[in-house]
Amino acid sequence: MAITNLSSTFSYSLLLTLLFFHAVLAQSHNQTKSAFEFLNHLQGCHKGDRAKGVRELKHYLEKFGYLNYNQSSDPIHADDDDFNDALESAVKTYQLNYHLNVSGNLDPQTVSKMMMPRCGVADIINGTARMGSGKKGRNLRGLGSFHPVSRYTFMNGNPRWPASKYHLTYGFAPGTPTAAKGAVSRAFTSWASISRFTFSYIKDYEIADIEIGFERGDHGDGTINSFDGPGGTIAHAFRPTIGLFHYDADERWAVGPAAGSQDIDLETVALHEIGHLLGLGHSDVEGAIMFSSIAPGTTKGLHEDDIQGIRALYNF
Ligand code: ZN
Ligand code: ZN
Repeated sequence: MAITNLSSTFSYSLLLTLLFFHAVLAQSHNQTKSAFEFLNHLQGCHKGDRAKGVRELKHYLEKFGYLNYNQSSDPIHADDDDFNDALESAVKTYQLNYHLNVSGNLDPQTVSKMMMPRCGVADIINGTARMGSGKKGRNLRGLGSFHPVSRYTFMNGNPRWPASKYHLTYGFAPGTPTAAKGAVSRAFTSWASISRFTFSYIKDYEIADIEIGFERGDHGDGTINSFDGPGGTIAHAFRPTIGLFHYDADERWAVGPAAGSQDIDLETVALHEIGHLLGLGHSDVEGAIMFSSIAPGTTKGLHEDDIQGIRALYNF
């Protein structure tokens, strides 16, 4: 094929990159169901039930910050299939946080929300409901009758980059596809345009302030931060000033996926994870980039809630 100008060279390499993603990732996708598939079988479950998969539900709610058996008076039940009081309470907190009917039951809306591909960062840290504490907190009392105010949060303890580090360098682990590099670079540009941060790419990723790469399964970030194959957890990033951002290599990634596609947008996820790198936690505003989950075949940009969040954190 003759490449006659820069524009077609770019399109051609983009096409090759997209084909690469499909070729590499389609195989595992076809063989394995979503890591959150177990939730489908739990629809209708409620307190008092005993069903296969409840144990996994407990692990799910623990991973994402809704259940902490280390602080529970009932530690024996952490690893069984009994839908007990502690689990019902965790489901209610989840439902409150996602503006669902607070029933404590696994109704279809709750299951559907829980099954969405999502970020691996917990919504709530150390068993403390993020919306129940602090002056910007939302009220956990009056379940069902109180409509909480939606907004951004910060990472636990409000970690920030010091003023001497408002210029950050970033680099990519060897083997990072070109399409991902482009998407991440554009996401940094978006955050720079609404904050006091500036970002620049450096080739030597080991000395960069922020290291970005693709990982799969248990990859050395601790068991609770393991990736889980296709679906389920799709990416994560660490609080300031750790500077680590990983995509799950087992997902179907794309640049600007078409509506209805099963591919997940690299740039949307990069915008989200950079929010964590800068110190933002999850927002319960569904339109915000810091909302915890993302539907395949969709793209998002920064939302007013994200902009208010980063400006509040850094007094900008
Ligand atoms: Zn997140
Ligand atoms: Zn990781």
